[in-house]
Amino acid sequence: MDLSKFLCWVVLLLGISLVESKYMVYNTSHTIVPGKLNVHVVPHSHDDVGWLKTVDQYYVGSNNSIQVACVQNVLDSLVPALLADKNRKFIYVEQAFFQRWWNEQSETIKRIVKDLIHSGQLELINGGMCMHDEAAPHYIDMIDQTTLGHRFIIREFNVTPRIGWQIDPFGHSAVQAYLLGAEVGFDSVFFGRIDYQDREKRKKEKSLEVIWRGSKSLGSSSQIFAGAFPKNYEPPPGGFYYEINDDSPVVQDDPDLFDYNVQERVNAFVSAALDQANITRTDHIMFTMGTDFRYQYAHSWFRQMDKLIHYVNLDGRVNAFYSTPSIYTDAKHAANEAWPLKTEDYFPYADRINAYWTGYFTSRPALKRYVRVMSAYYLAARQLEFFKGRSEKGPTTDSLADALAIAQHHDAVSGTSKQHVADDYAKRLAIGYVEAESVVATSLAHLTKADPALNPTFQQCLLLNISYCPSSEINLSDGKSLIILAYNPLGWKRVDIVRLPVVGGDVAVHDSEGHEIESQLVPFTDEYMALRNYHVEAYLGQSPTQVPKYWLVFSVTVPPLGFTTYTISTAKKTGGYASKSYVSRLQKGEQSKFDVGHGHLKLSFSTDQGTEINYVNSRTSMTEPVKQTYSYYSAYNATNDKEPPTPQNSGAYVFRPNGTFPIKPEGQVPVTVIRGPLVDEVHQQINPWISQINRVYKGKEHVEVEFIVGNIPIDDGIGKEVVTQISSSLKSNKTFYTDSSGRDYIKRIRDYRSDWKLEVNQPVAGNYYPINHGIYLQDSKKEFSVMVDRAFGGSSIVDGQVELMLHRRLLLDDSRGVAENLNETVCVQDKCTGLTIQGKYYYRIDPYGEGAKWRRTFGQEIYSPLLLAFAEQDDGKPMSFGAASFSGIDPSYSLPENVALLTLQELDDGNVLLRLAHLYEVGEDKELSGVTSVELKKLFPRKKIGKVTEMSLSANQERSAMEKKRLVWKVEGEGSYGEEKKAKRGREIDPRKLEMELYPMEIRTVLIHLELPSSHSRINRFDA
Ligand SMILES: [Zn+2]
Repeated sequence: MDLSKFLCWVVLLLGISLVESKYMVYNTSHTIVPGKLNVHVVPHSHDDVGWLKTVDQYYVGSNNSIQVACVQNVLDSLVPALLADKNRKFIYVEQAFFQRWWNEQSETIKRIVKDLIHSGQLELINGGMCMHDEAAPHYIDMIDQTTLGHRFIIREFNVTPRIGWQIDPFGHSAVQAYLLGAEVGFDSVFFGRIDYQDREKRKKEKSLEVIWRGSKSLGSSSQIFAGAFPKNYEPPPGGFYYEINDDSPVVQDDPDLFDYNVQERVNAFVSAALDQANITRTDHIMFTMGTDFRYQYAHSWFRQMDKLIHYVNLDGRVNAFYSTPSIYTDAKHAANEAWPLKTEDYFPYADRINAYWTGYFTSRPALKRYVRVMSAYYLAARQLEFFKGRSEKGPTTDSLADALAIAQHHDAVSGTSKQHVADDYAKRLAIGYVEAESVVATSLAHLTKADPALNPTFQQCLLLNISYCPSSEINLSDGKSLIILAYNPLGWKRVDIVRLPVVGGDVAVHDSEGHEIESQLVPFTDEYMALRNYHVEAYLGQSPTQVPKYWLVFSVTVPPLGFTTYTISTAKKTGGYASKSYVSRLQKGEQSKFDVGHGHLKLSFSTDQGTEINYVNSRTSMTEPVKQTYSYYSAYNATNDKEPPTPQNSGAYVFRPNGTFPIKPEGQVPVTVIRGPLVDEVHQQINPWISQINRVYKGKEHVEVEFIVGNIPIDDGIGKEVVTQISSSLKSNKTFYTDSSGRDYIKRIRDYRSDWKLEVNQPVAGNYYPINHGIYLQDSKKEFSVMVDRAFGGSSIVDGQVELMLHRRLLLDDSRGVAENLNETVCVQDKCTGLTIQGKYYYRIDPYGEGAKWRRTFGQEIYSPLLLAFAEQDDGKPMSFGAASFSGIDPSYSLPENVALLTLQELDDGNVLLRLAHLYEVGEDKELSGVTSVELKKLFPRKKIGKVTEMSLSANQERSAMEKKRLVWKVEGEGSYGEEKKAKRGREIDPRKLEMELYPMEIRTVLIHLELPSSHSRINRFDA
């Protein structure tokens, strides 16, 4: 090229750039255009409250070698990005992160953010502390964690979230739809994960969006518009990811620069929109613009979306604009369409063939149990905090509330986080517990009128699960007695059994009036000693100093929301005694038959290993052969498979069995039978790493089964998923019933889905469901119910049989992101062994139609055990405590049998939050499924109830205001909402009568203003 030509080129280029390159104003002001395909562009970031990193690591952006994620960056960069263009919008979901950020902001930023929220540019949706899992959490935890977030939002911003945004949880619970959806006042709920077969059918039928009626009892009065996304919660296909390190093509609209691609990007956008429109009703579709931990530099996304909106609208084939799920929901509603009806739930979830996400129903069973124990403790601790009066300076139950809320996240209690993150959740719970424990101790000292001069303190025994309780293992021979206080968090009087490790057998138990009560000493067996010694050292770093010889077992009677006290002292001091148990051991091969049981319930064991039992209840005339067995599924190892798209192992999420192996009783271990006046026990060693105990208590008609599973051997290189099967003769005809998040029961039919014709590819894993409360079978004569102490996966794979997955130890990852094998261990110094799980399930057989009563009442007892506290009393010294018993409610009153108290809490503004729940579904029980009524005055004796305000479930708005705003939807084939027979609900509370009516499955939430300072209803003098 000669010089003149070259200069010519230069001039030409400069000329173009001088003329063409200029500041561009993108028109982002579009809104809905009727008659056009409207593309709602919804910017969002999915920020897991712990998963691969801990919640704090995600927030501050540390530990980035695991995952480059910093939520602080998201929120920091969002503010200027939204300020730069008032048409831009964003939704923020996880309050655990938002609150961390909010607390650190200047007043100026806070003011700006408030303006952004009030203008609708920034919308807080879902609004709980986390996006809770829907399989493993108990509904009370779901309510609590949502309440915590919602009350913060109303306090700081005076807004109520309108939308449920459960985009990532692995299947969806009916309770989520009606309770954590409609009853908190949401207008819609959106989610990303439904079964791949279901999704395909719904795409064809344009039924991804439905009216979801999750409760049989509450029906249309508690329904919600629900949208499953066409694929996932990410941007549509075609390359629309704009994080700074994403490789999607950006919109290059500067004609001076190379690779100008506006038309190509517009075509991709329009094509994705038209595809989605083909599977969606109405002319509104949603593009979820974001995914995990995106918008860390928010401007990089908004810059591209500004351009897309601008050029797509110039193109004119579709109408694109910044939107939110609220705007989208309103548009769907305004379309006045009749929507398909969806009932029940979206479990189980498979994302493709052979990939059922039913393993996580059991993953990390110790964490699941810990969460459940803390949940119950939090409920009880808040009651005691209320009875004493909340302390301004602390300690409070707030940090336990926060830890529990975070633990409900869909990678926390689900068991699908990395190990160090699971440890972080447990650490938070432990810290929260310690503070709540001191709230409880202070409250008990107050309620027992403890003499401060004597400085008495109530100790508690969190480690009773590993048979460790220093408070009860004291030596009573040197002039001490042990006072045991049993607090009952239930609204009914309760007769229950207390079991404590004690070091000596020379003891007697007296009630608070000085009468000796029946007690029994059960010998402390080897399996407990091993479990105790190892775990005390692992947990506390030192071996226990005492060696308990016995469990002291006695029966206690405790008033509703109250306590009674018992005294344990040496027998010779009082002349009483605890009965020793009668112990017999059967050797292997010894054929024998033996019976255990008291009163109505008898179990007859009939083989040498005692796995076959005849269950006889003489009161109900129920006789049933029951067989208890254990098996394991060997975890599928797909390392050498070539199946597309990636080979599928069994892992933290996915349950993929590769054959089932019955575990035969083996070894020389005998069956031990222990009998006594209060409890009979049959101890069985199933194999070297599984043992179980069947217990029958005096006065109870269920069987308690305690199991110890672990350490699961893996020296054969195979992961194992251990299950127990409880078999009966019931002709259950492929049908079983499992609870939804601990509340409603849903009918399940093996190898069947009511929403589509199921292609069965995993006959075991595809029939697993989450069990939080229980599972039952029935035939024309009997009901066979099994209740659980934590969330497990379970099923009925064979008619008449209930199966529970108790533990999993896996050696491979299932390729869903966690990238770690679920191989939990417990270490003492440097030696680690596979995690051992100890737990309980309970079973009972009732005549057909009569099982609900036990499931509901006893289910509450399992969830809310007695809270035990211990104090020492020196003989001959004045009694440290002035009151031996207490009832927080009117002593003549107890809650109706079909009502549970879910929340009694003094809020930081002094108001009392009260939640009561009807425990029965319509038709579940002949008597107890009826309307019932609670006398609020009796719940607050000697206090004047000033004002009672009925609230939404999450207590962030008045119920009446919520009902007024509720969108009315049409359902296909049903005519309008109003015409259908609506479920009955309790009448408005009359401020004079102060009675709360409850209809089946209704939960009512009220804020109560109490006018007089607290005083306590009834305190008995300590006479012991
Ligand atoms: Zn997630």
